[in-house]
Amino acid sequence: MDDTSPYLVSAYAYGNDYHEVIHEKLNVLIQKLKDQVPGITIRGFVDSAPVLERAWATLAGLGWIGKNSMLISKRNGSYFFISELVTDLVLEYDKPMGGNYCGDCSRCMDACPTQAITDLRVVDANRCISYLTIENKGEINPDFKGKYDKWIFGCDICQQVCPWNRYASPHDEPAFAPLANLRELTATDWEEMGPEQFKSIFRKSAVKRAKFAGLKRNIDFLSGTR
Ligand code: SF4
Ligand code: SF4
Repeated sequence: MDDTSPYLVSAYAYGNDYHEVIHEKLNVLIQKLKDQVPGITIRGFVDSAPVLERAWATLAGLGWIGKNSMLISKRNGSYFFISELVTDLVLEYDKPMGGNYCGDCSRCMDACPTQAITDLRVVDANRCISYLTIENKGEINPDFKGKYDKWIFGCDICQQVCPWNRYASPHDEPAFAPLANLRELTATDWEEMGPEQFKSIFRKSAVKRAKFAGLKRNIDFLSGTR
C-alpha cells in the first residue's frame, strides 16, 4: 500500500504470512541437510520461539542492532526476516561484523510519532504502534490520539527513515506479493469490514494475528469512532 491508501499495514504483512512462507523454505533446507548428514538433529524457527534472533544474527556477522532496535545490514538495510536452524551439526561459523554504523544519526528516534525509542536500541512496547496495534489486547491509550498516522497493523516509520534502507532491494518471492484485495480496499471497506470478510481477506496474512477485534479497534481508533 502507498501514501494514498486510507489505512496502512506494515510492509511485511502485505502478502502471505512470513511464518508459513519461511517455515516451508526452512523445511526444504532441513531435508537437504538431513539427506547429506543422516542422523543430525535440527529444527528451524522464524519468529516462532523465544530465540534471541537479532543477537544471534549479530554474532553471525549479519549486521548490527540499530538505534531503532532492528538488525541492520550494510548490504540490505533492515527490510528482511531472520530465521535460524538449531542443530547439533558442527559447522564452520562466521565472525561478528563488529561496530555499529548508526553513527550520529538519530532519524528513527526523531521520527517515531509516539517517542517509543526511549534510549539507544530500546523500544518501549507500551508506546510502540507496532506492539499496540498487534499484540496489545486492551484499549489504546487516548494520549496517542492523532499520533498513529494511518497505521492499523504495525508501523514502519523507524525503518522508512533509516538511511541504510536505501540499500534494501525488492524481494522476488511471489508469496509476498501484496494481496490484491488489500490494495483495493477503500476507507469505507475497512471501516465496515465484518468478521467474515476479515477471515476471507486475511486468511493467509500475518494480519490475522491482530484478530478481527484488534484490527477493528485500531480502525475505530483512527477513524474517531472509538
Ligand atoms: S515501529 Fe513506529 S512506533 Fe514503534 S518505534 Fe518504530 S516508529 Fe516508533
Ligand atoms: S535511522 Fe539512523 S540511528 Fe536509526 S537505525 Fe537507522 S542509521 Fe541507526
